[in-house]
Amino acid sequence: MADYYSILGVDRNASADEIKKAYRKLARKLHPDVAGPESAEQFKAVNEAYDVLSNEEQRRLYDMGGEDALHGGGGAGAGFGAFQDIFDTFFGGMGGGQRGPVPRGRRGQDTLVALDLDLEDVVFGADKEITHTLAVECPVCHGTCAAPGTQPITCSQCGGTGTVQRVTQSLLGQMVSQSACPTCHGHGTVIVTPCHECAGEGRVRATKTINIKVPAGVESGMRIRLAGQGDAGVEGGPAGDLFAEVRIRPNALFQRVGDDLTCELQIPMTAAALGTQVTVDTLDGPRTITIQPGTASGTVVALSGLGVGRLHRGGRGDLKVSIAVKTPTRLDDVQRSLLEELAKVRGEDIPSARLVEHNAGFFSKMRDKFSNK
Ligand SMILES: [Zn+2]
Ligand SMILES: [Zn+2]
Repeated sequence: MADYYSILGVDRNASADEIKKAYRKLARKLHPDVAGPESAEQFKAVNEAYDVLSNEEQRRLYDMGGEDALHGGGGAGAGFGAFQDIFDTFFGGMGGGQRGPVPRGRRGQDTLVALDLDLEDVVFGADKEITHTLAVECPVCHGTCAAPGTQPITCSQCGGTGTVQRVTQSLLGQMVSQSACPTCHGHGTVIVTPCHECAGEGRVRATKTINIKVPAGVESGMRIRLAGQGDAGVEGGPAGDLFAEVRIRPNALFQRVGDDLTCELQIPMTAAALGTQVTVDTLDGPRTITIQPGTASGTVVALSGLGVGRLHRGGRGDLKVSIAVKTPTRLDDVQRSLLEELAKVRGEDIPSARLVEHNAGFFSKMRDKFSNK
C-alpha cells in the first residue's frame, strides 16, 4: 500500500500548505519532460498522492484507513478519475492521450464514379467493369515513401519521440508544453531519400479497372459502396471508399414502375375482336400472351415475375402489358366493303354514340387527384 505522506516527503501532520509546497517541488523535479520518461511512474505516484492529500475529505478517509478506505469509498473514484483526466490533459497533446511518435499515413479520399446501366442490368442484376483514374499505392515503394533500399532514419530534433517540448517561466512556476516535432511532423523518423516514383507521397495516379456487383432492383441516384476501393491513402494510409452512382439508360420498349415493368403491345382491331395468341419478346425472351375475344384498348395483361428483381428482398415484380388496339387505316375497296358489310350485320351502319358516365371510375379518380393539387 502506497504511503502518500512518504511519497511526498512530508509528515502526517503536514499542513495543506506544506503538502502543496512539497508537491510542487517534486513535480518540477520529476516531470518526465525534464527528468525523462523513466521518472513517469514516480511522477504519477506523486500526483496521485497529492490528489488525495490536497483534498480534505479524501485525506481524512486516507488517514482513517489508508488507500483501501479510499478505494472503497464512493467519492474516491471520482477523485482518481479527475486525476487521470488531468494526467491525460497534461500529456494528451498527441491525440487520444497516447504519447510517442505518430505513425505515417492518412486515409485516402472517397471517390464518386458514375455507373451507367441498362434496364436489363437493373432487372437481373449484373457484374459491371468500369475504368477510373484515381490514386493507387505506389508500385515502387508500396506506400513506404522511401526510395527502394533506403529506410527512414530517426529524427535528430526529437530523438524519435515525435514531440518537442518548450519550457517557459510563468507566475505559477516552470511550464512545460509539448507539441509535434516540426522536423518529422510527429512521426519520429525522417525519410531522407523519398521514393522518386511518387515523390514520397506513397501513392500515384493510375487508371484502374474496378469490378462492381450490381444487385437487381437498384434505382437511379443510388450509390453502391465499395469499401477500400477509393483513393489510396497518403504515406501508406488506408484507402478511401468508392461510391458508384447508378444512372439507368431509358429503354425504348420497357419502362420501369417500381418493381414492375410496363410496355405497350399493339394488336390489330380484328385480333382484339376475335381473340388470338401472340408472342411478345420480353427481357426474359419470347412469351405467349392470350388476347381474349373483345379485348379493349387499354386492357392490361400482367405477366407475373417478369418485372424487376426486388432489391435485397428476392423475387421479381410483374411485366404489365398494355394492349393498344390499332384501328385500320388506308382501306382498299375490298376491305372497305367487308367492314361496311360487318357494320350492317351488327346494326352499326347508323352508329349509336353515347357519353359514358364516369362515376367512381378510374378517370374520375384521376381527375380528383389532379384537381386537388
Ligand atoms: Zn513511391
Ligand atoms: Zn522529430
